[in-house]
Amino acid sequence: MYKSFQTHLSEQLSEIRNNGLYKNERIITSPQNAVIRVAGGKEVINFCANNYLGLSNHPALKKAATQILDERGYGMSSVRFICGTQDLHKTLEKTISDYFGTEDTILYAACFDANGGVFEPLLSEEDAIISDALNHASIIDGVRLCKAQRYRYANADMEDLEEQLKKAQAQRFRLIVTDGVFSMDGNVAPLDKIHALAEKYNAMILVDESHSAGVVGKTGGGVTEIYDLRGEIEIITGTLGKAFGGAIGGFTTGRKEIIDLLRQRSRPYLFSNSIPPMVAAAGIKAFEILKEDNSLQDKLHSNTDYFISQMKAAGFDIKPTQSAICAVMLYDAKLSQDVAARLSDEGIYVTGFYYPVVPKGQARIRVQLSAAHQTAHLDKCIEAFIKVGKEFGVI
Ligand SMILES: *Cc1c(COP(=O)(O)O)cnc(C)c1O
Repeated sequence: MYKSFQTHLSEQLSEIRNNGLYKNERIITSPQNAVIRVAGGKEVINFCANNYLGLSNHPALKKAATQILDERGYGMSSVRFICGTQDLHKTLEKTISDYFGTEDTILYAACFDANGGVFEPLLSEEDAIISDALNHASIIDGVRLCKAQRYRYANADMEDLEEQLKKAQAQRFRLIVTDGVFSMDGNVAPLDKIHALAEKYNAMILVDESHSAGVVGKTGGGVTEIYDLRGEIEIITGTLGKAFGGAIGGFTTGRKEIIDLLRQRSRPYLFSNSIPPMVAAAGIKAFEILKEDNSLQDKLHSNTDYFISQMKAAGFDIKPTQSAICAVMLYDAKLSQDVAARLSDEGIYVTGFYYPVVPKGQARIRVQLSAAHQTAHLDKCIEAFIKVGKEFGVI
């Protein structure tokens, strides 16, 4: 059998290669940080990690993790409800509830699992899910596992959402689902308007705060903070794999009964391993640091503002963003790859995105800012963009 299957796979792989879509992993040989060492020994300034607050290699998180590694061991070897729950897991859940102003929280191995396990236990054929067209893959997969009727609205398009809500009046319960920040443009979901429509058409809301929590809002509280909707949103999902230390782990937080039912029925929670104690401990530490003051968020926001204003002044076309994601628009797919490669020669680590990750003719370089960046890092990046941009006639 395998011989013919092998041919079948090889054909698909060639097609991926021929379309220029083959993904190679880029090897890093240092900790995750503003400056990283890549295979071959070269040092580059990193602008493509989700290390928004610079916590991925933070001494206090490493200390919390190593201390608990010694005290509580390496792994749990169990799912949560059999023998995989330490007090640390409960403390982390409580800490996350406090951070978002929610009633209860359930941890998962990743936000991919949180989204994979949130819809199916809560909704059935009689219900409706109304989902933004640009929602994350894990939301799309989670919705596929659920029997609810599916409606889709164009990205952040409130007229379309209203249309879909009207159609969904036929169902029993309605859940609007949106990313907090959309990862390709960096735009924030208009949660105030979504909330008003939810009130008008009797719907609930799920916000995935993976790219927004820790990043947007005055204290990094996410989109619910921007729109003063803390405690008003039924379900929030998020990750510990981005702003909050970048290791692993996801969560669903929100109304008490929702979380309680997820503990009974959510399959990635019931049938997958507990996060390691050291990850739970470092997670608790991350939220502790953020509670002390706003210095990391302030640094991130000022870095983002500085970078964007300098890039615009240099003549680059920057997508409007409200987050730490800055899309430098080049429109042409090949150009985005060539510019990214030249920036890499200049010691600037960025990623070029093109179709099908973004719409055709919307190729870009995505720059992600971090509180770990110093002004000198930003200046080097801007200088390199100007140099390479001139070479390619972009500016
Ligand atoms: C990154 C991301 C996820 C996945 O998070 P993991 O914890 O890495 O699985 C889910 N949703 C959104 C919107 C994301 O950006």
